[in-house]
Amino acid sequence: MIPHNRLLILPEDRAAVDAVLASGWIAQGPAVATLEKKFIQDFGGGSACALSSGTAALFLALKALGAGRGDVVALPTYACSALLNAVYMAGATPSLVDVLLETFCLDPAAMSAQAPGARFVVPVHTYGAIADIAALKSQGLVVVEDCCQSIGGTDGGGLIGAAGDAAVFSFYASKIVTGGQGGLVWSRNVSVSERARDYRQFDGRDSYEHRFNLQMTDIQAGLISSQMTRLAGIRAKRSEIASTYLSALPKGLSTQAGITDEGRMAHRFVVLAPTLAAREGLRLHMAAEGVECRVPIERFELLHRYLKADPAFFSVSERLADTTLSLPIHPSLSDEEVSVVAQALDQFRP
Ligand SMILES: *Cc1c(COP(=O)(O)O)cnc(C)c1O
Repeated sequence: MIPHNRLLILPEDRAAVDAVLASGWIAQGPAVATLEKKFIQDFGGGSACALSSGTAALFLALKALGAGRGDVVALPTYACSALLNAVYMAGATPSLVDVLLETFCLDPAAMSAQAPGARFVVPVHTYGAIADIAALKSQGLVVVEDCCQSIGGTDGGGLIGAAGDAAVFSFYASKIVTGGQGGLVWSRNVSVSERARDYRQFDGRDSYEHRFNLQMTDIQAGLISSQMTRLAGIRAKRSEIASTYLSALPKGLSTQAGITDEGRMAHRFVVLAPTLAAREGLRLHMAAEGVECRVPIERFELLHRYLKADPAFFSVSERLADTTLSLPIHPSLSDEEVSVVAQALDQFRP
């Protein structure tokens, strides 16, 4: 069976971890600082704060930007529950918004109807697609870009994450680069990351404030930094696989718009089937051909379902949950495995 996801840890990644272990310092230290510097360099300034997870990064980005009790934070309902957890951790109130069928990203035009009174918004660059940040900024919103699935992607030449008030990354095991767990906040506004850094550093402070241990270890940072040096190659390989799948896509099936655009990170190749029955048919067909596919977000996982809001207001997200299937697209796939997936896809009749 070709697995939906597979780790790609190279000898140089192991060597990077070994170097940290040999250094005698494995907690948050110089390797974390190096990773943070890398983000500041790549974004051409600002400041960064590495953390224990993407969820911790979402929480601290919101908190550092001033979100708290009484604030409404708009979230796409087609997203993982980490977003809800982060908003509640910050003490704010979530308000859910539907997404666009073309990109699976938050629909900026739905903001005024679905999240009136929102001061904050967390658009997700879903599966590497490019959420419309300018349309949200023009509404006067404070924007935390969720780049957990788009790290290394660019939009019109600029790195994704540079357009909002803060950008959040995850290094969980299934993400584009990984430390097992891990997260990071980057912001052009230095005070945002400084507030996050203050919060994660609770020990030996001269005055007590409510802080918390959300630190990344140097072991994680060493592993992440090593993979970061290959990010351009990872993006190119994923893009090449996406092109192959796109050419094999039978009539009646589609995928996210712009998946093979220049600079776009293809974190997932998600097929959109015409009906739930066709999606289930595709899943069975691919499994019979030895390809493990996954439903990326099931209907019950949609955030409005968790919050028991009326599904009628979230028709695009409902449709995506019922009709999408994610194919293996990780860079560890061999050329032969890519052909097996593409051929199986090509042979499917919806
Ligand atoms: C993975 C992910 C998160 C959460 O990151 P963790 O590191 O697992 O806490 C948040 N948002 C998106 C879009 C993600 O893909």
